[in-house]
Amino acid sequence: MDLGIRGKRGLVCAASKGLGRGCAEALAEAGVDLVVNSRTESEIARTAAEIAAKHGVSVTPVAADITTDEGRDRVLDAVGQADILVTNAGGPPPGDWRDWNRDDFIRAIDANMLSAIALMQALVPGMMDRGWGRVVNITSASVRSPVSVLGLSNTARAGLTGFVAGMSRQVAGHGVVVNNLLPGIHATDRAVSLDTGVAEKQGLSLDEARRQRQAGIPTGTYGEAADFGAACAFLCSQQARFIIGQNLLLDGGALNATL
Ligand code: NAP
Repeated sequence: MDLGIRGKRGLVCAASKGLGRGCAEALAEAGVDLVVNSRTESEIARTAAEIAAKHGVSVTPVAADITTDEGRDRVLDAVGQADILVTNAGGPPPGDWRDWNRDDFIRAIDANMLSAIALMQALVPGMMDRGWGRVVNITSASVRSPVSVLGLSNTARAGLTGFVAGMSRQVAGHGVVVNNLLPGIHATDRAVSLDTGVAEKQGLSLDEARRQRQAGIPTGTYGEAADFGAACAFLCSQQARFIIGQNLLLDGGALNATL
């Protein structure tokens, strides 16, 4: 399917690897020129060069912490105008609800709620003026089904979801489509780190911790970043223009719910 977005300009945050990279790859394949961001300069430079070489689009790397004002300013300076925005950042650490203090919550809210909102505030007005835009926020399956050790994520991402529910409907009349993608478990470094935590806590090998988690997923597998990226690219397509303020769960059927 031709997604109709060749020649558009996009920003994908936290994209040197994992789900962000999957989104950047799929958008590049659809012909979108990109600015990609993550903190480690060598990694984001390598990723940008690989994506540009593979798909023949322009890919500009910006090494910056997207959760800080200074980092976002540098990314936004590099982008100028964007037609497509994919927000993303690293997830908060696991832990116990009894232990988190105000600073822990503020860090999580900054990273997984306010940074996405700030990027939308910076870029969506221009999209509205030009009458076309697409935003995909990478959130988490924890928005639909809380993960007990990820209370910081449950909390911050619920806030972003509430913001998008209202804002997406205010901008839709200007041709701007805003949605959230909710990853269940995907085979990325984040999954390795979460599984390592479970393995250590329960005295299991990493393979056993992974096998136990896979057993709870109807597909019997973890998701792949490439599949996640394809869903992102579709939500950024011309064809997605009637999909407004939705929360698309990509979890292999792990959430046992009728709706
Ligand atoms: P990942 O494989 O660990 O990749 C994270 C990417 O984000 C890297 O490119 C990393 O590069 C970059 N990054 C992290 N913090 C950043 C920051 N402050 N500023 C800019 N870039 C930053 O993680 P992932 O699995 O793709 O996860 C992406 C998001 O989805 C996370 O919020 C995660 O919690 C959420 N999620 C993932 C899963 C899953 O199963 N994978 C499930 C649910 C939710 P640098 O370290 O160099 O900055």
